[in-house]
Amino acid sequence: MSLAIYPGSFDPPTLGHLDVVERASRLFDHLVVAVGVNSSKSSMLTCDARVRALEQCVAPWPNVSVDSFSGLLIDYALAREAGIIVRGLRATSDFDYEFQMAMVNRRLSEQVDTVFLMTRWEYSYLSSSIVREVAQLGGNYSEMVPPPVRKPIADALRARSGY
Ligand code: ADP
Repeated sequence: MSLAIYPGSFDPPTLGHLDVVERASRLFDHLVVAVGVNSSKSSMLTCDARVRALEQCVAPWPNVSVDSFSGLLIDYALAREAGIIVRGLRATSDFDYEFQMAMVNRRLSEQVDTVFLMTRWEYSYLSSSIVREVAQLGGNYSEMVPPPVRKPIADALRARSGY
């Protein structure tokens, strides 16, 4: 059985992420969307909020589940006995970082390979940081994220502004 991990910050999950999930779910027997917890990075959504929103987003696909992890991705992948890491690629600007991470992860373990899925054209501009920026500046982000992600963002913005 092929088990793949799709790791990321997903802060917040976007339609671009979900498109990668949908396509990866057809390539592998089981896909785990894994929210990486990085305590040194400040985030808009809590890890719990990201996991809960993602769980609702992936509900249509029976072979997709959601989890969170901290520490080294490769340790997490080995612990789950996953042979594949899925990452998305947008413009060439993603490439340097993704290439470096894939090389390091291969160096750390030969048992796990990284597979890249190219973004869908209509989502090539979309990133979590763009959604955060639009949301924080009061813009309409609702067409950039899956419906279950809209309320957690609104809640986070409200909590931040104090009302
Ligand atoms: P990270 O902080 O690990 O880069 P992200 O949540 O920003 O986490 O992204 C997770 C993965 O999804 C990365 O491989 C990223 O390149 C990919 N990704 C993000 N947005 C898109 C998109 N619009 N289309 C395809 N892949 C994407």
